[in-house]
Amino acid sequence: MRANSLLRQLLDQEHTIVRGFQLDERGLTIDVAPATRVPRCSGCTNRVPRGYDARTRTWRHLDFAGMRVSLRYRLQRVDCPRCGVTSELVPWADPGSAFTRDFEDTVGLLAQRMDKTGVCGLMGIAWQTVGSVASRVFRRRGPRDSLDGLRRIGIDEISYKRRHHYLTVVTDHDRKRVVWVGIGRKAATVDAFFDALGEQRTSQIQLVSIDMAGGYIEAVKRRAPRAAIVFDRFHVQRLAHDALDEVRRSEVRAQLGGAAAKALKHTRWSLLKRPWNLTLGERQRLASVQNANSALYRAYLLKETLCHILDGRQVHVAARRLGEWLAWAQRSRLKPFIRLAKTIKEHEEGILRYVSTRLTNAFAEGINSKVRTGVKQAYGFRDPSSLIAMIFLRCSGMTIPPVRHVPARAVTQLAA
Ligand SMILES: [Zn+2]
Repeated sequence: MRANSLLRQLLDQEHTIVRGFQLDERGLTIDVAPATRVPRCSGCTNRVPRGYDARTRTWRHLDFAGMRVSLRYRLQRVDCPRCGVTSELVPWADPGSAFTRDFEDTVGLLAQRMDKTGVCGLMGIAWQTVGSVASRVFRRRGPRDSLDGLRRIGIDEISYKRRHHYLTVVTDHDRKRVVWVGIGRKAATVDAFFDALGEQRTSQIQLVSIDMAGGYIEAVKRRAPRAAIVFDRFHVQRLAHDALDEVRRSEVRAQLGGAAAKALKHTRWSLLKRPWNLTLGERQRLASVQNANSALYRAYLLKETLCHILDGRQVHVAARRLGEWLAWAQRSRLKPFIRLAKTIKEHEEGILRYVSTRLTNAFAEGINSKVRTGVKQAYGFRDPSSLIAMIFLRCSGMTIPPVRHVPARAVTQLAA
């Protein structure tokens, strides 16, 4: 077998011919060309007249046995009647990429399950590059139909770039995956999602889980009026935690230096944990709060009772008990809980709907923690589209098959 045909077999790129190669300290450079004589436009893939100039370009390919491999070709600039001046289409790479598709798919596959150091170390590329590769892999291999068949969805925000920027993430509760991501967390972002979804598919949405903050409520009510809204249980719980913590802090301030202040020391976690998770020491601290500070203990009971109501499984029981809770909180003389009661009263129906559906954004929260890990790693990404691509790569259930070429001739020899 001649060297060129061996290389062609090893590369196994469709519509690609091998013209020669060069082996030096940089590795193996293979001179290739598209098998078609007439160039195609990389914008619209239509045939175009011969190019008017050309420049030698290289594309990084998968290593052969640890040796760096590049493809080299004089890429023509073409004048497309539809797209204007673009470069010609090559069969081994996406337009604008300095990597072959096989290389990019491998990066995408690794980025789905490996951290930054792993991917960059193994593939020998910068993290920034992983971001742009992820965008192309997602465009090429991402699901086309992720918005089809949605019935129950969650809409949630996540922050990136050290909390100053937000993405809105839409998840499918039934298939447990991310189906849409948009920049921002305003009503306009939700509008963009429903625009993409279209009227017909929107009318199929039965249920939307959201948290009580932000511009989501109004937008969901306006765009999907037939969908039932469920308020995320964990968000309700978080608000109760915040109210409790506010009471604790103001009590600590009020009793600064006093004997009672000692009892409040290091009580934060004892107060916030669910009772069955408390350690013995935390139980003792809680008992001392009960003796020393009735306001804080009252706040603790309010928080704990609210969580308990949400634990319930019968809607009518939960509804009755929530009514009692609201009355209690309003009389509690604890400002943060009076405020919380007001918020809960306003959103009562959606909160109780949790009890009947048991639907939370917990999966989305799980996704969020997955996303957040990615986001932390993605601080190096300059543009959010890379981050969005990483989210889809990791959380949309998309599969990238490992690159595995079986040289055609080897197959025929085996068959013979
Ligand atoms: Zn074109």
